[in-house]
Amino acid sequence: MAGVFDKAAREQEAAEEDFGIQFSDYIKVELKTETTGWDDIPAEIGPQYEGERIRAADTALEFGGPKCDYAFERIIIHPPGTELENEKVTIIGPEMNELEPGAHRFGMIAEVSSDETEIPPEMEGTFSTRFHYWGNYIGGLMHLNGRETIWIRVSKELLEKGFRFEHWAKIIARLFVMEIPVVDRCQITIITEPDLVKEKWDEAVAYWKEQDAKMAAMTEEDTKPWYTCTLCQSFASSHVCVITPQRPANCGAISWADAKAGYAMDQAGDWQPFDPGECLDPVTGEWSGANEAVTKLSGGINTRYGIHSMFGYTHTSCGCFEMISFYIPEVDGFGLVARGYNEPTVNKLPFSTMAARTGGGQQTEGLLGLSVRYLHSPKFWQADGGWRRVVWMNSSLKERHGDAIPDEMKDKIATENDVKDIAELREFLKKVDHPVVTGVIRPLDGKKITDGWKRPLNADELLAFIEEQDGELDPEVAAAEFGVDEEDIMDLVEEMIEDGILEE
Ligand code: SF4
Repeated sequence: MAGVFDKAAREQEAAEEDFGIQFSDYIKVELKTETTGWDDIPAEIGPQYEGERIRAADTALEFGGPKCDYAFERIIIHPPGTELENEKVTIIGPEMNELEPGAHRFGMIAEVSSDETEIPPEMEGTFSTRFHYWGNYIGGLMHLNGRETIWIRVSKELLEKGFRFEHWAKIIARLFVMEIPVVDRCQITIITEPDLVKEKWDEAVAYWKEQDAKMAAMTEEDTKPWYTCTLCQSFASSHVCVITPQRPANCGAISWADAKAGYAMDQAGDWQPFDPGECLDPVTGEWSGANEAVTKLSGGINTRYGIHSMFGYTHTSCGCFEMISFYIPEVDGFGLVARGYNEPTVNKLPFSTMAARTGGGQQTEGLLGLSVRYLHSPKFWQADGGWRRVVWMNSSLKERHGDAIPDEMKDKIATENDVKDIAELREFLKKVDHPVVTGVIRPLDGKKITDGWKRPLNADELLAFIEEQDGELDPEVAAAEFGVDEEDIMDLVEEMIEDGILEE
């Protein structure tokens, strides 16, 4: 165990070489938030509010989340010397007190610059996590997730205190300059005008996709170090995110490049590098160095991680995952549901019910939180058959991330528009000849990993079964025996009658 992080100094040097800069020259690590006056802000601010939950009944306004289609937060890093006006706040659309109670489209864009130093674009991801981190410092404001999957709640009490977008933006802008010495100026634009939110959301998502594609070229085998994040231990004390180039963090806010930049910025912070060590299982994605790091950081509660499997020693989930992957035993496949989907899923459980059973830093086989970016990883649940095992997705998730789905699977995955329950799902899967029906062959190694649940029916088997039943045929019993529907049994019976094998 000792020595998991012994290479920190060397990794730091490597990070600095890769970025071609010396982070330590201009980035200090200590947080100064608690010592700062906030007299012009009608809210309490400080790390003590991290982990505060705002319940629906106490909520005045929501931005993003299940009831809202477009919301995002974006960082734009400008070249040195760009004329930005520090703490300038622009609000396009209604202010908080002009909005009806409920959920609204929302965009926050923070533009930052240094007077003299070139800030590398790799910092964008790390800076972006500060929306989440500092948003949760505001008493009465709850912030979940990142980028285009944010979900923010503002409490009634905070709104009644006079808190407005203007204050929120000032807090973020001020903290950028106070806490990150390389940032000399930060100005913020908040958009609530619905059409403009959509327009800027499209621009941001296109940009992130481009950045993500660059990451897609990296592999776990060729990359050292990997990173851990323990930021969510304030919600889930034993949770540790293992972040690799092929497994972005559950919250969606932190890719491997983000973690790398974050560590370079704050070596005592929540992102820590580690040597992944030896690959113990290339199928599940279990590595000796990851096991050591997780054991240390979870206080020994979790000791093994198979980061690309839904079963066995799974990656843990905290609470701010972007989506859930859930096992559906009746069809031996997986469903995927995004945080924004509010209806019951195909197993009749809504996201919120499953989320309560998913999080907390426990290893929960068959029920895991993950990021939407992981859908695009070539290692996405590779131990369990990957996309060949996915049987259901909520339609907006399928629509937004359809490019992650292999062509041959696109029409085989049902949504709420195709099926309403498990019985309908079974029919759908049989109709589209989904791999789970006859057994999944794992793309990684060509091994058949599930038996399938529809046994091929043939006349000889059915005849033998009828003889075992003393010449009687109960279609319900036969259907259960053969793992098919009664309709399949009756279709074969009719054929057998036509062929003269059975009498009516
Ligand atoms: S989900 Fe993981 S990476 Fe994201 S903030 Fe929480 S611990 Fe860190």
